[in-house]
Amino acid sequence: MEAGLISGLILAGGRGSRMGNVDKGLQPFRSSTMVEHVLARLRPQVGPLLISANRNLDTYRAFGAPVLTDEMADFPGPLAGLETGLRHCTTPYLLTVPCDSPFLPLDLAARLFAALQEHDAVVAYAATQEAGMLVQPHPVFCLVRADRLPVLSAYLAQGGRRVDGWYRDLKAVEVVFDDADAFRNINTLDELRGLEQPAFPASLAQVASCINGYDPNALPVRDAQRIIREFVQPVRAVEMVALRASLGRVLARDMVSPINVPAHDNSAMDGYALRGADLPQDGVATFKVVDIVYAGKPSAVVPGPGECVRIMTGGVMPAGCDSVLPQEFADSGDDVAMTVRAGAIRAGDNRRLAGEDLKAGSAALKAGRIIRPSDLGLCASLGFAEIPVQRRLRVAFFSTGDELRSIGEPLGEGCVYDSNRYTIYGMLQRLGCEIIDMGVVRDNPEALEDALRTACENADAIITSGGVSVGAADYTKQVMAQLGDVTFWKVGMRPGRPLAFGRVTSNGRSAFLFGLPGNPVAVMVSFYFFARDALLQMMGANAPLPLLQARSSEAIRKKPGRTEYQRGIITRGADGTPEVRLTGAQGSGILRSMSEANCMVVLHDEQGSVAAGDMVDILPFEGLF
Ligand code: AMP
Ligand code: MG
Repeated sequence: MEAGLISGLILAGGRGSRMGNVDKGLQPFRSSTMVEHVLARLRPQVGPLLISANRNLDTYRAFGAPVLTDEMADFPGPLAGLETGLRHCTTPYLLTVPCDSPFLPLDLAARLFAALQEHDAVVAYAATQEAGMLVQPHPVFCLVRADRLPVLSAYLAQGGRRVDGWYRDLKAVEVVFDDADAFRNINTLDELRGLEQPAFPASLAQVASCINGYDPNALPVRDAQRIIREFVQPVRAVEMVALRASLGRVLARDMVSPINVPAHDNSAMDGYALRGADLPQDGVATFKVVDIVYAGKPSAVVPGPGECVRIMTGGVMPAGCDSVLPQEFADSGDDVAMTVRAGAIRAGDNRRLAGEDLKAGSAALKAGRIIRPSDLGLCASLGFAEIPVQRRLRVAFFSTGDELRSIGEPLGEGCVYDSNRYTIYGMLQRLGCEIIDMGVVRDNPEALEDALRTACENADAIITSGGVSVGAADYTKQVMAQLGDVTFWKVGMRPGRPLAFGRVTSNGRSAFLFGLPGNPVAVMVSFYFFARDALLQMMGANAPLPLLQARSSEAIRKKPGRTEYQRGIITRGADGTPEVRLTGAQGSGILRSMSEANCMVVLHDEQGSVAAGDMVDILPFEGLF
């Protein structure tokens, strides 16, 4: 490719309305500004550089490229910048990139140009596709043949405004890039701040050094949780999905209501809309019915004194009316006249106010929430067909141990079926992760290294079970330590205790690692109390564990100095308050105790034995599992 054939145009002319109208390109970012990151990545790919900007022109000029202000006065969108750019373009091709894409690919121009040549097209634009997802086009990353300016100008003159609309009738090719993160653009100041730090700022040792009296061999649960929380980084990649497909996903941005819901004052009942001041003080009053209003069919009739309008639920309140008499409260009524008794309703009753559900401009849903059925409805009521969600977290997992057999294999002397693989599968599935199930890996260094590397190169997080305690045949710890920054803890808890945590790296890719113990109950407890929060944090979700309280119906023996997680059964006590009893055998290998339980009783470090009737913390399974 001849880079000299292409001019690079940085689109920095937007209003940055989602950042509070700041000039996006000039926002400080990783020790320079966003636009400087874009310039640095674009410069080697193109010949002349141009910047489209409408504010802070001198600052942009200081970067050494001509700064073009929009020639269309009334439209601030990216096409205005493109049009101006094409007018000033001195090369046969123009490549546009937005000023808020500091990670743009270094082979952007080369790949778009090659596609343009190969298909004899006049427009080539970038797209990305994540596993199992629809292709996501990025039409502002676009290479255009400069002589197509008249097509764009004609489109704009007709009022066309869509970035991907103007080349509808031209030959355009989509070029799919692998690295979706490279096209990530930064739309809010929060996102910007979140990315401010390079991905992995600290080592585990640095993070752990903030803990008073840190001892990896006697680490309290809350310190382990804190180190994990501070070390883990969110995976930031947003995709738009169809409304229904957003169920259970993590909302990536605030959903701001563009409208009032409901849009108008309307009736909450089938009945008669009237002016509250006309209601009788005593005796009865008869109203003349002057019109009928159905939902979706407003009436222009304005009832006068002593007049009313028959109205159906959801019907827009006629001008001047502030109350609705439900039809069953009328003494008599038809489409001609209605009689009502004093005291049947009060003025203002049965009227729904415009905006009482949602006000235009307010955040209907906040970023970070896991989308529930009501949220689907809420988004629909705002007219949103597509929802920005975090991309699914990819989690790879495997079990370690020579004694483990997979279902279907004969169960030899001293062997057990691998059950952790299934519980971990279930727990990850419930969290909405994309799952890479790697099965059983033998306790041998080569197999373990292979598995860890594969997991690391394909996933954001890795969960293993077994091999992190002191057993002689366990190479797991040794291999984990070789591949990255991993620490091995003895956590003050039961069940559980051994836990490996850190970040492993292979061929330039890294993943957070949770090495859970092997015992089937310990695996679940460690997953819920350590891995779950971390995975949710990586997903950008905000969903803390819902610890509640219940009265213990029995005495529970407990040693202070460690956290105990007992399996419990919660029921409604005689006085209506929740009451919990234990499931019986609590051994860390007794998985049945988990299945019998409907909650976990959490007895904290400082707590001693519990007397019957004491309140204890519980984690209900319903809504979690
Ligand atoms: P480890 O931490 O590897 O010493 O394992 C502790 C105990 O958990 C041993 O009794 C293992 O047999 C058992 N165990 C380890 N992994 C699994 C698994 N995937 N499924 C069922 N039991 C397991
Ligand atoms: Mg083992």
